[in-house]
Amino acid sequence: MRILITGAAGFLGSHLCDHLLAEGHEVIGLDNFITGNPENIAHLMGHENFSFYKHDVSNYIFIPDKMDAVLHFASPASPNPQSPSGYFNLPIQTMKAGALGTHNCLGLARASKARFLLASTSEIYGDPLVHPQKETYAGNVDPVGPRAVYDEAKRFAESLTMAYHRAHDVDTRIVRIFNTYGPRMDLEDGRALPNLLKQALLGQPLTVYGEGKQTRSFCYVDDLVDGIIRLLHSEEHLPVNIGNQDEMTILQFAETINQIVGNKAGITFVKDARSIRDPQQRQPDITRAREILGWEPKVSLGEGIQKTIPYFKQRLGLA
Ligand code: NAD
Ligand code: UDP
Repeated sequence: MRILITGAAGFLGSHLCDHLLAEGHEVIGLDNFITGNPENIAHLMGHENFSFYKHDVSNYIFIPDKMDAVLHFASPASPNPQSPSGYFNLPIQTMKAGALGTHNCLGLARASKARFLLASTSEIYGDPLVHPQKETYAGNVDPVGPRAVYDEAKRFAESLTMAYHRAHDVDTRIVRIFNTYGPRMDLEDGRALPNLLKQALLGQPLTVYGEGKQTRSFCYVDDLVDGIIRLLHSEEHLPVNIGNQDEMTILQFAETINQIVGNKAGITFVKDARSIRDPQQRQPDITRAREILGWEPKVSLGEGIQKTIPYFKQRLGLA
């Protein structure tokens, strides 16, 4: 297949490029580097099956070759207001990547008669009132709340994807990605794993926001990519949750990182870091992925963190 991946220089996009190239596909990467890093795909330059366009997905996309699949991953993704690459600080760009970018990618897929896969998110459930979150849950989202630029852009992107499927018969897929981590995350983008693992490796106290009672379930990147590739090759058009079900409080998560790294500096509770409606509970119901894709995560949190540490040490100059 000839596959276009938007957001190719990002954390998830670059891993998808690697996996799809290893399967023998031809991959065209597209990115404007707004939150990504050219180093994430530097090793692919010169690969006979890889080519790259520096382009903003919010603008009309012209690719001369006919595509077999379009995977739309381009979007700022960090909710941390303290980070310049968080979507709070890129509000219009985030809404345009989700809305105009999805429209352009769907148009491209339609013209190419290509399969289309949208990277959606657990954020479409907002601060969920149903737990764990099934795909049938419609969510609890404030359209003018502080996270709305991301949540509503992704919700619009899902609606537009289904509209292209229903009205134009585009062969679409929607993956709802839950918190995922691994090598090539941006150490400065302020998400939980990069912040806390970086602090632990530097021997600093870990910044836990609020009282750390809010929960998340963290999925290792290889498991996520496996689920996405299975979904791409499936016939499922409705959204599918992909994520790990191993739910824990952020305090437990921080303690686990300190224990694995052997960091004795402990934990600092930061009170007002997220006066932004931090979702209090998040865990995917992955029944649909199990039944339709035969997928479930295999990598434990301990293993995943161990696999991530060498990259972080290299970036921090500790290797
Ligand atoms: P990332 O920031 O590492 O990657 C996003 C990439 O998209 C970056 O390389 C960035 O430069 C690029 N990009 C952003 N706007 C663009 C634009 N207008 N034109 C071209 N390129 C643009 O983030 P990530 O974690 O790899 O996330 C990738 C996708 O997966 C996003 O759509 C995100 O919403 C989704 N997602 C990720 C997670 C997660 O836990 N990592 C969870 C849910 C959803
Ligand atoms: N968090 C934290 N300390 C940090 C960074 C994040 O306690 O240094 C918390 C944050 O408040 C949230 C959780 O970790 O409850 C996950 O945050 P992340 O930014 O990874 O993404 P989210 O799941 O909120 O989209």
